[in-house]
Amino acid sequence: MAQTIVYEVGYLSGIYEGIFRFQSLAYILAAVLFILALAGLSQQKTARRGNIMGVIGMAVALVATIIVAVFQTEVAAVTTVGLLVAAIAVGAAIGVWRALKVKMTGMPELVAMLHSFVGAAAVLVGYNSFLVEPGALGAESAFHMGEVGLAVFIGAVTLTGSVVAYLKLSARISGRPLMLPGRNAINAVMVIACLVLIGCLVMSRGVDEGIVPLAILTVISLILGAHLVLAIGGGDMPVVVSMLNSYSGWAAAMAGFTLGNDLLIITGALVGSSGAYLSYIMCQGMNRSFVSVILGGFGGDAPKAASGSGDAAEVGEYTEVTPEDVAEALKGSKRVIITPGYGMAVAQAQFPVAELTRRLQSAGVEVAFAVHPVAGRMPGHMNVLLAEAKVPYESVLDMDDVNDDFGDVDTVLVIGANDTVNPSAETEPDSPIAGMPVLRVWDAGRVIVFKRSMGNAGYAGVQNPLFFNENTDMLLGDAKDSVDAIVAAL
Ligand code: NDP
Repeated sequence: MAQTIVYEVGYLSGIYEGIFRFQSLAYILAAVLFILALAGLSQQKTARRGNIMGVIGMAVALVATIIVAVFQTEVAAVTTVGLLVAAIAVGAAIGVWRALKVKMTGMPELVAMLHSFVGAAAVLVGYNSFLVEPGALGAESAFHMGEVGLAVFIGAVTLTGSVVAYLKLSARISGRPLMLPGRNAINAVMVIACLVLIGCLVMSRGVDEGIVPLAILTVISLILGAHLVLAIGGGDMPVVVSMLNSYSGWAAAMAGFTLGNDLLIITGALVGSSGAYLSYIMCQGMNRSFVSVILGGFGGDAPKAASGSGDAAEVGEYTEVTPEDVAEALKGSKRVIITPGYGMAVAQAQFPVAELTRRLQSAGVEVAFAVHPVAGRMPGHMNVLLAEAKVPYESVLDMDDVNDDFGDVDTVLVIGANDTVNPSAETEPDSPIAGMPVLRVWDAGRVIVFKRSMGNAGYAGVQNPLFFNENTDMLLGDAKDSVDAIVAAL
């Protein structure tokens, strides 16, 4: 009898050891794949491979987690499998439905919405962890309660911050910054209150003592997240989306600590730090201070920024051209640069633009694309569209690589871009976009701007003096129709 028990205990512990080894191996493999995915995504040429690495890494992590959960479960394995399958089916159905429905121009909203799910998950994991293992005597429990508090704090800030970003980006609420008097002081008080409440949670014993500070912490964090993003102006939204990406990563990492899940900690830290780095690069691209973004004290200097296309009072005479005129100008050019913007995405003009490029290149004209870091409505928006239309990567240049060359260019086609080619960013210190680096298209011999009407401004809601320059002509109309007409005229 005793021998049988010893044998069975040994046998079972062998299985458990095997499972944990399998889990560790799978998690290490997934972590390596995630790092390779990030490395791949850093360049257009390797982005597809990077994406595949990420998908495989996630599949490995998911399968390993499910297998371990089924072995560790305290209820019947069938019940656990059933619950997991149901949860995955619901999540996958919503994910596939949203991903199929979303247009490229609506991608930032979708990303913001997904970040809110990560925030919500961190809050729920924090509460679950608290209820299963509430505060008790000892350093280990205090540490655990600290993790719970931080997971709920960061998760709740991410949750409401992302929901507000989603509402702003989808124009369901105004993009104008909410400028409450003393808003920085309000934020500071809320952060201090949250830290004090996390302290109370750390010292609490049992559910009854801990639930009150945890609940108040949740409410204040939810308000803080909404307030931080409400205070940010529409023109600064790209940085907010990337910043929330970072927050969602840290929320996931905190959830990893509370669950004791190493892979979640690693993945969260990767997302958190890469999101923070992207925010930093974007801040540089828009001439903003990173610290002020992180603190949410952002947008106060951009009260004139408006969301969507604002009205723009005209500031002079402009000249209008026809697609035939543009075709003639292009035929006579040796070097052409195309600067795409949000309007190209709206019009879905990337395919005729790619066709135009091929025609010009086969006629011996040198054609390149100049892409501003925040052109469109999300980082990399233009690169994705151009890749979709099979424009060779070598023809797509970053702003810094091309900005000094516009003087040698015969013709620039500004296709649906506005803020990113606005000279007032350099010349008008009071402009909402003052200091934002812009593509210096006005240095070229001739500039042709594609937009639908003179009445609408760009995203930041400010007029663009470029349209009234002597060497600028306007080609008014939908960008796709205009480019189609130019291709026909060629
Ligand atoms: P803008 O939003 O400044 O301008 C878009 C231009 O496209 C307008 O001139 C508009 O004029 C024109 N347009 C719109 N639809 C069409 C159409 N169907 N055919 C032809 N033209 C059209 O674009 P940019 O790309 O230059 O700048 C991006 C802005 O968005 C920046 O201010 C940036 O800060 C902000 N932003 C960027 C994000 C990112 O991550 N990249 C995220 C969120 C905001 P009209 O209406 O008259 O046609």
